Amino acid sequence: MNIENHDTIGQLSLDEEGRLAGICTTSGMAFKMRGRVGDSPIIGAGLYVDGAIGAATATGHGEEVIRVVGSYRVVSEMERGFSPQEACERAVQKIYEFFERRSAGIQDTQIGFIALDKRGRTGAYALRPGFQYAVARKGLAPELVDVQSLLKS
Ligand code: ASP
Repeated sequence: MNIENHDTIGQLSLDEEGRLAGICTTSGMAFKMRGRVGDSPIIGAGLYVDGAIGAATATGHGEEVIRVVGSYRVVSEMERGFSPQEACERAVQKIYEFFERRSAGIQDTQIGFIALDKRGRTGAYALRPGFQYAVARKGLAPELVDVQSLLKS
């Protein structure tokens, strides 16, 4: 089993009239405990949309995303004036700090966030490399973006 034993799909949208929307769907983690609830079905953790500010969704180890109320945190950072990119970076940094505080093993963990704000700016950040997201804008070819990460491996 490697750390990519999960499969959340998250999508954030902004329409021509400035309406934001978001969805996510997942089967959860492979070999999960019976009854486990990950971050994806919990609004604020795996997904959060504030129609006046922006939207965010998460992938990776849901327990860690829940711990920091990750997607809400990303949107809150945008509300404070950070760009979607900065907001994702700050949320991943917070997760990393929580690991350090608990002296918990981080080696099997991956987390990623994507974000979109009311102005149509996008951002994404991950704990580890290997995460990509797609951006589709009207009239332009869809773009696959390599996501930067806090850790280098
Ligand atoms: N976030 C999901 C969970 O913890 C896993 C995934 O990213 O697919 O259930």
